[in-house]
Amino acid sequence: MTTERDMFDQGDLVAVQTTQPLDRTLDYRAPEGGCVLGDFVEVPLGPRKVLGVVWGPGRGDFDRSKIRPVTRVLDVAPMREELRHFLTRAAEYTLTPMPAMLRLATRAPGLGDPPSMRKIYRKGGGAPDRMTDARRRVLEVLEEYGGLAFTLHELSEMAGVTTSVIKGLVKQGAVREEDSPRDLPFPTMDPSLSGKELTEDQAAAAAVLRDHLRSGRYGTTLLKGVTGSGKTEVYMEAVAECLAMGKQALVLLPEIALTAGFITRVEARFGARPAEWHSGVTVTERRRIWRMIGQGGAQVVVGARSALFLPFRELGLIIVDEEHDSSYKQEDGVLYNARDMAVLRAAGAGARVVLASATPSLESWANAEAGKYDRLDLKARFGVAVLPEMRAIDMRAEKLQPSTWISPTLRQAVRARLEKGEQSLLFLNRRGYAPVTICRACGHQIGCDHCDARMVEHRFQNRLICHQCGETKPMPTVCPSCGVEGKLAPVGPGIERLAEETAAAFPEARLAVLSSDLFGSARALKEKIEEIAAGAADIVIGTQLVAKGHNFPLLTLVGVIDADLGLQGSDLRAAEHTFQLMRQVAGRAGRAELPGLALLQTFQPDHPVIRAILSGDEEGFWRAEAAERQAAGVPPYGRMAGIVISGTDLAAVFDLGNTLARNDGALRAIGAQVFGPAPAPIARVRGRHRIRLLIKAAKGAPLQEAISRWLAPLRLKGDLRLAVDIDPQSFL
Ligand code: ADP
Ligand code: ZN
Repeated sequence: MTTERDMFDQGDLVAVQTTQPLDRTLDYRAPEGGCVLGDFVEVPLGPRKVLGVVWGPGRGDFDRSKIRPVTRVLDVAPMREELRHFLTRAAEYTLTPMPAMLRLATRAPGLGDPPSMRKIYRKGGGAPDRMTDARRRVLEVLEEYGGLAFTLHELSEMAGVTTSVIKGLVKQGAVREEDSPRDLPFPTMDPSLSGKELTEDQAAAAAVLRDHLRSGRYGTTLLKGVTGSGKTEVYMEAVAECLAMGKQALVLLPEIALTAGFITRVEARFGARPAEWHSGVTVTERRRIWRMIGQGGAQVVVGARSALFLPFRELGLIIVDEEHDSSYKQEDGVLYNARDMAVLRAAGAGARVVLASATPSLESWANAEAGKYDRLDLKARFGVAVLPEMRAIDMRAEKLQPSTWISPTLRQAVRARLEKGEQSLLFLNRRGYAPVTICRACGHQIGCDHCDARMVEHRFQNRLICHQCGETKPMPTVCPSCGVEGKLAPVGPGIERLAEETAAAFPEARLAVLSSDLFGSARALKEKIEEIAAGAADIVIGTQLVAKGHNFPLLTLVGVIDADLGLQGSDLRAAEHTFQLMRQVAGRAGRAELPGLALLQTFQPDHPVIRAILSGDEEGFWRAEAAERQAAGVPPYGRMAGIVISGTDLAAVFDLGNTLARNDGALRAIGAQVFGPAPAPIARVRGRHRIRLLIKAAKGAPLQEAISRWLAPLRLKGDLRLAVDIDPQSFL
């Protein structure tokens, strides 16, 4: 509700937050007809017109005679206080300038355009002069669907006639042509339709979630359940309660490839399709969703992390599925973690959050331990499915031919599945053919010209690709260093090379290779996944893409080619991520009647993480990991921020890093420590040198404020750039 204070009469001074890189709001005069707080407006800025939001009364610190009026108020719902507040808090938390934050909330082009129209067709009053079969079919379709209107395309499809038949009927008045706005509300979802009959455990968890929703207050619940335990079925009940209360729900998924399957489930449950929001959605559709969310014409949004910034009218619930997934961390532009921002948004909106995972992040686990989050556990898989048995293959005892990676033990297990007509999955988290290409004459390893990274051979494309910057070049035949021909050799396995070995070992088997770079579109990938689920492959070879949520009922064996891969390196979360990934991948096996087995090839079967994975003692793993982090004072028991400075001039980059490290008074004042500068793990990307500083502080320390004060005097010269990453996930 707007109060009098929120309304501005024509000529009143208003402060407008724009999407332009300015460090303050600008004053304008309210236009003819006035405006209200939160209105989306177009304002003149220099010679241009830019998008902004009325943020409050004018500051009045400008020469009043120079203040220009707002050009126009856009015909969309004003931004609610809840969202303005969220953007402000999110900007403070992530140390992001407001304009960049506002851009996230206005990622639907043409917001100010008048509603676009399209032609629709319905039954008219007239009769055709002459009846033909084609004409009769058109009229029958219109009859059958009562008063419903169709687009020309829909109607011609449904009636099986050409569009000219319909146009002919329009001329004679038998069909009526009308203009209708393109941005139509989404079909109404019906929460009273019944879902699957829940098991006792599931029903108990669902009842708790429903109660939480009815409380109408903020709260976060960690819904932990093994893969296949029915977490989705359970949180769908929370969505139902949310809809029944007349509120909107947002479901975040970590991977676009998962949305199509999920949307089908939502449609089956509520009788209508939800809105779908991610980078693969057309701009017209994005605009429609953005508007409909604001008007209440969309009840459920399924999407990627950026859906958090949509202008919900009454948000009641946010689900973060696979909440541990690292893709929730946005690593470009505005650096934020969608899981944390979901909690922030819900807290301000009085909404509930459900974080669902089989292998929660240590952050969420610790929040549940500390009583900040509620926790619900689903302990058993649904139906007859049982969790796969997990075993290690000790690679020190296996005899492998050079340049092969499938051990005899694993080979035999695959063969046994082939004979029974069951599927196997070979998992290797490395795209391409080989991670390294080396010259056998001089030892040179082919690197990227712009990054400190090796080029990865992709044999399907016959190119070398840099996984950092995307640069590609044709596979050379001559060593770029010594010029010797025919001596370049691949070292180590990527998924394509593994596929080659598999094909040679099992010539009769049908293979499917799943890697993100091998599919042009999410749709193509989804089709492939459905085919595999239906039995179109005997052996699936995949990267972490397959670890996420897909259901392969015929799959009974998972072979992890290199379980040690994630344990190398010094990343704070190496153990946690390996644990999560291995348990997730193993969870692909035995999801239906057939029991599953997961075999992990490892050179260090006694490593504590490998042992924890195999033992299945999840709580034990988290407790041990938590104790280590607590002792080290690192997240989630301490706070961290990463500062990455980059530029083309290495000396300038280091100078800036050193200056900042020396002038650390603002940080020391809160007891924080600065480490570095040191070259970032990838010290050069796209020709820019990169160094990083790491800041460590105690848990309760006001880290953001201190960093703001520390960086306030900073003026970046030349092409130097500085990015602040609060709660960094990876250390690239
Ligand atoms: P999770 O999200 O925990 O991995 P899902 O909700 O996807 O689990 O459930 C796994 C499979 O079991 C799905 O195919 C789902 O439809 C089915 N399932 C789960 N619970 C039930 C139930 N109560 N009745 C019927 N099918 C169920
Ligand atoms: Zn590169």
